[in-house]
Parts: sequence; structure tokens; C-alpha cells
Amino acid sequence: MMYKSEVYQEIRAAAAAMQPQLTAIRRDLHRNPEPGWTELRTSMRIARALTDMGCDEVLVGEAVCDRDSRLGLPADEVLEAAWRRAKGTDPVFLPQMRGGMTGVIGILHCGDGPVVGLRFDIDALPVTEADDPAHIPAAEGFRSKIDGVAHACGHDGHTAIGLGTAKLLCRLRDHLRGTVKFIFQPAEEGVRGAKAIVEKGHLDDVDVLLGAHLGGEPGRRIDAVGVGPNRTLATTKLDVTFRGKAAHACLVPEAGNNAMLAAATAVLNLHAIPRFGAAPTRVNVGRLTAGSGRNVICDRAVMELEVRGLTTEANDYMTAYAKRIVQAAAEMHGCTCGISLRGEAAGDCNDSDLCQTVMTVCRDRLGLSVEELQDEPRGYISEDYSLLAARVRAHGGRSCYFKNLTACTAPIHDPRFDFPERALVTGVTAFAGLTAALLEEKK
Ligand SMILES: [Zn+2]
Repeated sequence: MMYKSEVYQEIRAAAAAMQPQLTAIRRDLHRNPEPGWTELRTSMRIARALTDMGCDEVLVGEAVCDRDSRLGLPADEVLEAAWRRAKGTDPVFLPQMRGGMTGVIGILHCGDGPVVGLRFDIDALPVTEADDPAHIPAAEGFRSKIDGVAHACGHDGHTAIGLGTAKLLCRLRDHLRGTVKFIFQPAEEGVRGAKAIVEKGHLDDVDVLLGAHLGGEPGRRIDAVGVGPNRTLATTKLDVTFRGKAAHACLVPEAGNNAMLAAATAVLNLHAIPRFGAAPTRVNVGRLTAGSGRNVICDRAVMELEVRGLTTEANDYMTAYAKRIVQAAAEMHGCTCGISLRGEAAGDCNDSDLCQTVMTVCRDRLGLSVEELQDEPRGYISEDYSLLAARVRAHGGRSCYFKNLTACTAPIHDPRFDFPERALVTGVTAFAGLTAALLEEKK
């Protein structure tokens, strides 16, 4: 049995020694990126790795996501094409993932104690990766081999960090008291995947939830764990279909119901929703397609919109207002409308006392540089980790979402986004060390 200080020392040393392995995993995922709900190869590799390292339970398919709570699913043809690419490569896990049932949860049982959830997102983006020699993945031969899809948000790194952390904690399990859940979440982009994991109940017994994102400016000199309010915007993504009635635009225009007019009325009024006093809000209609030809009254219009708010309350206000506008605009022009939820995230997700613990453990026990982040309104984004956190906090649990700061080459989602792979070691050290601290044996 090691002393506690030796456990932390072991974690630091083992994480550092894992660098070549972490780099190899990350590069393999980087070359084979898969967008949300098509992460079949990725999920299969995660499931296989967790099984090989001795995780007590490895959940895939129906056991991970509530089928009907998956948001923003791609078309069936897209899901089937992904299936055709992946099928035959694994007889055990893959068949359970067909039809967009991606994502993996590994569980490590180490006796009585708290339940710690660690969340890693695994999906890629519809971005064409840069192909010039200054971009390291291109120069070193691990650029995305799939046209128009790339890991431009570092989730390849997050996945590698998750697997490294799981491997290390499996090895150190005799020093842990409690349960660890390794949650490999699909479809973070567009905030689509978290809800299905929440609705399956995986967060209901989690006492502490941790998550992180790679980030940092190009010129940055020191890698660090960034901890602070890390406030995120609650958001709701909606698709709206307006249905009207076609008619000859000259002969009998009065016989039609103009879906384009309904949609246009909605667009202008959505952007005129009154501001919310207690918190900043956002609204955007990002896409509108309508009509079939010049001399036909339009009978169908499809719109993609989103609202956001710094608090869940502010976002709820925006969502309710937006739905009312859409419905009223449809009615105004004698049309009907269907509204479907395509993505969702909650507001705030960090507990300040847990943030303090994260800072102390990272700095004092793990020897990592720690940066205390200030609340930065210009940096607000949305992250569906917040939905997992909201469920944990609803029953009295705590959450901390921190940043793995390093010298990234470009902002996230940019075709040139890349990060120094030493940040993988920082990530494993932080996640494994924090879990060890939270599940410390009581003596
Ligand atoms: Zn991301």
C-alpha cells in the first residue's frame, strides 16, 4: 500500500510515461474523425480499450443513451452510411451502436464511497482541415482522411485523455474508495448528446462531476489548468417547419397559405424579442429555406434558429417567447408549424468550493500550474456538459468544468486548430489526480 503522497507521485510519473501512447491514440482518432451520432469507430475503440484495461462495466448502445432523447440526429441515410463504413470491424460492440446509438460509459467499482463522473466528448466537426505544412497534423501525416470532417475542437484529445485516465485509475484502483464513471459522450457539437445520457439516469447517483476543454492562445508560454466560473450560456436549438398551401400566384393567390410569409414574419419578430433584464440573451435565425418557384404560393418553409441565455431562466424566457412568435406567425398567415428540439444546454455549471479543491489538488499535489480564471463575458459559449452538471447539482452533487490551457494554434472550430500533445499528459494527470483525491481512503 502506497502513502497518499506516493499515489500522486505515481500518477504524475505514469501520466508522463504515457505520452507516446496518448499521442498515438489521439493521432489515430484525429485521422478518423466522426461527427455527432456517427462516432462508431471511435466508440468501438473506446469500448475495446476500456474492456482491455479491466473496467468493471463497459456500457454501449442502448445502455448509454436514451434512444428518444437523442437530439439533432442526422438523416437515416447518414447514419446508415456511417454504419456501412464501420461494420465488420468489431463483432461485439459495433452491432449495438447501429442507427446512431454511439457513446460509451466505463464504470470502475472500488468499494463504498462517493461516485465521481468524468466526462469526455468524442465527436468531430463538419470542417475541412487545413492542409499546409505549417499545420502539424498535415506535416506529420495524421491530418483527417475524411473530406469535410475534422477534429477541430480537440475532442480527439479529450478522448485520449479519458482513456489514459481510465487506464491509470484501473491500475490504482486499490487506492480508491468509491466509484468512477468514465462518460464518453457523443454529439457535443450542437449540444445534442448530453440530454440522452442524462435521461438514461447515469448522472442520478453522481456526487462529483468533472469535465474539461483544451484551449489557450497561440503565444501562450506555460501550460496550466484554468479554473474559474467558466460560465456557459444555456441554449435551445429549434428547427421549425411551416406548412401552408400552394396556389397559382396570379390566378388564385387567395387560395394559398403562404408559408414563406409566415417564416419571414417569424424571422423579423424573433430578432425583436425584448431583452431579458436579469441576464444577457442571444437569438439567431441561421438558416431559412422556402418556396418552390416564382409563380407558386410557397407551401413549405424550414427554419433553423437558436436562443441563448446566461442563466437557464433567461434561456427559458427566450425559448418560450420564440415558440410563441413562431406559432403566432404561422397562424397569422393561415399556416401550421412543427417545432422540433435539436439541441439543448443549461446555464452555469461550476461550484466554487469544488473549484477551490480542483485548484489546490492540481497545484499542491500534482505539481501542475494553475490559473484562476475571471468571469469573461466575451468568452461565453454553450456546452452541453452543463446538462449533466445540472442533473448532478439537482440532487446536491457538485461540478467543476475546467480548462486544459496550452498553446493552441488557432481558435476552436478553425481549420488550423491544433494543440501541443504534451497537454494530453496534463489532462490525464489532472483527471486521475483529482479522482484519487476525491476518492481518497478514509483512514
Ligand atoms: Zn469542443
